[in-house]
Amino acid sequence: MAKSSGQFAYLNGDFLPLEKCRVSPQDRGFLFGDGVYEVIPVFNGTPFKLEAHLNRLSQSLDQSRILNPMDAEQWQAMLTKLISYHPWPNQVVYLQVTRGTQMRRDHLPDPDLSPTLYAYASELKSVNSEWLAGGLSVVTLPDDRWQHCNIKAITLLPNILLKLQAQDQGADDAILYREDGLITEGTASNVFVVAGDQVSTPPLSDHLLAGVTRQVVIELAQACDLRVCEQLLTRRDLDDADEIWLTSSTKNALPVTQLNHQPVGNGQPGPIWQKLNTRFEQIKQAWPTSLTD
Ligand code: PLP
Repeated sequence: MAKSSGQFAYLNGDFLPLEKCRVSPQDRGFLFGDGVYEVIPVFNGTPFKLEAHLNRLSQSLDQSRILNPMDAEQWQAMLTKLISYHPWPNQVVYLQVTRGTQMRRDHLPDPDLSPTLYAYASELKSVNSEWLAGGLSVVTLPDDRWQHCNIKAITLLPNILLKLQAQDQGADDAILYREDGLITEGTASNVFVVAGDQVSTPPLSDHLLAGVTRQVVIELAQACDLRVCEQLLTRRDLDDADEIWLTSSTKNALPVTQLNHQPVGNGQPGPIWQKLNTRFEQIKQAWPTSLTD
């Protein structure tokens, strides 16, 4: 018998070992990628910025015309219980809601479907020390995804293809730009650019995800007395940057030290990132007392 992973999951009202979870192949998530998700980090046993994640989930569901199956208290109670099954202080919870199971495959959803709710937790390991010490190598690629990247949809084939394209070019990841030349985000992260003492990130729009970490980094940078601007950025701004960072819930803020195989700044993680990352680590260690949610 296969060894258990020791992980538990929540599926449609039940808590059970991850290996025991079963979903119908007629689930619209499986057939159409018809659903949304969240990835929520847990520090010292407490979800980080839960309210922001639940608000974004709610927005993704609304825009996908899927009824939110739980209110905030119910989500919180379910997540607290799921987290309590595991010994790790730092976890990452993956949570997914699909439109539900429909026996007849049809693009048009039946109106009375019950959403499928799934969540599981894993240990959140420290961020790869090589990335922290040496930074990431990133290439710029055309953003050929759809027009609703503000929805955290499970339909991630375009992001996967872009990540593979970056790998083909010998890079860790890609920063994406639209036909108008404007930078949107990474394949699974938001983008920040530092020029002098100014920290900039593209403004929220339908072309990028409203990252929870993006907002945390904006607030941390402001608290470090840096000038923070949400402004349109071009590939030229990337070329001229002293520092570039990618932000996401499982990686916090990572420095980009190679852009299209050329050094960013002096090719090392920059001093502003160092300062911000130190502060971010302090906040994680002191969570949940370090910030109010
Ligand atoms: N943009 C995309 C496309 C993502 O997939 C993610 C996270 O997975 C982010 C941005 C960052 O979002 P967050 O900071 O909420 O993890």
